[in-house]
Amino acid sequence: MSQLIVSGMRPTGKLHLGHYLGVIQNWVELQHKYDSYFFVADWHALTTKYDKTDELKADVLNVAMDWLAAGIDPNISTVYVQSYVPEIAELNVYLGMVTPQNWVERDPTLKDMAKILRTKEGQNSQISYGLMGYPVLMSADILMMNADAVPVGVDQVAHIEITRDIARRFNNIYNTDFFHEPQPILNHCSLICGLDGNKMGKSFHNDIKISDTEEVTAKKIMTAITDRSRMRKTDLGHPDECEVAFKYWKIFGSEDQVATVKCECENGERGCADCKRQLGAVINERLSEIREKRVYYETHIDEVKDILSEGNKKARKRASEVLATVRDLVRMY
Ligand code: SF4
Repeated sequence: MSQLIVSGMRPTGKLHLGHYLGVIQNWVELQHKYDSYFFVADWHALTTKYDKTDELKADVLNVAMDWLAAGIDPNISTVYVQSYVPEIAELNVYLGMVTPQNWVERDPTLKDMAKILRTKEGQNSQISYGLMGYPVLMSADILMMNADAVPVGVDQVAHIEITRDIARRFNNIYNTDFFHEPQPILNHCSLICGLDGNKMGKSFHNDIKISDTEEVTAKKIMTAITDRSRMRKTDLGHPDECEVAFKYWKIFGSEDQVATVKCECENGERGCADCKRQLGAVINERLSEIREKRVYYETHIDEVKDILSEGNKKARKRASEVLATVRDLVRMY
C-alpha cells in the first residue's frame, strides 16, 4: 500500500511564485507517488485573523484555484477545506489533553508569529488561546489522516517535530502504536527571493502572483534589482552580484540561456533593461499553461466548488475512521 502524505496552506489570498516553487511544485510531483491529501487551513487563518474574515471565503477558493492550475490533480489527490472536516476539531481536543503546555510555548514558529503580532498591533495585543493552540491543531490536521509524511517548507519543520512528539506521547499514554510519527519531506527547490531581494511575501509588495497577467508580470520584472554597480550597458557586469534578475534567470532559464546571459553581461554586451525584458518573457512562457488553467477555473467556479465538496467527503471518510479508533483508544463512551 502506498504511503500517505498530508499538507496544508493558510488561505492568505492569491498565491505567489514563492508558494509555487517552494511548496506546490513539490506536491505536484509527490502526488504521483503518495496517497495525497491537500487542504486549505482556514481555521489556522483564524488564529491571527479572526477579526478580518471579509475575504476568507474568496481566499479559500483562490488558494484552491491556484493549486488546481499549478497541477494538483483532483482525480488522484484529495483537495479539501479544513473546517469542512469537523473531526479535526474533535481530534484537536484529545491531542490538546496529552500535550504539555511548555511544548507549545517552546514552538519557535509560534514565537515568531507572536513577535510579529506584537510589533504590528502594539503592546496590548493579546495572543489568543487559539493561536497558542496552533501547533496542536496542526498536529491534528496531520494525525487526522494518520499520515506517514508531510511535505513542507523548512519554516514548518519545527511543527512536524511537535507532531511527532505528540503522536509518540499519545501512543505511550494509550499503550498503542496506532499513530505514525510523520516525517517531513523537504523541498529540493531553491527559494525564490522577492523583486527587492528580500524574502518574497504578499505584505512586502515584492511578489509575482501565479494569477498575475503577462503585462503585470513583465512590468514587475522590470523593477527587479540588478547589479547595482552597473550604470551603462557597456559596463562590465557581475551576474553573481546581480541580486535578483540573475537569480531568476537561474531558476527559469535553460542552461544555455543562463550561460549566454552570464557571458554577455560580463562582457558588457547586454543591458539590464533588455535583459529583464527577456527574462519577463521567459517567466511568462513558463507560467502560460498554469495561467490559462487559472482563468478556466475562475470562469468555472462551480467546478472548483464541486472538487472541494468531493474532497471534503473523501477526507471526512478517512478522518472518521481514524477518529473512531482514537475514541476507542481513549475509551470514550
Ligand atoms: Fe543582471 Fe542581466 Fe543586468 Fe547582468 S545584464 S546585471 S544579469 S540584469
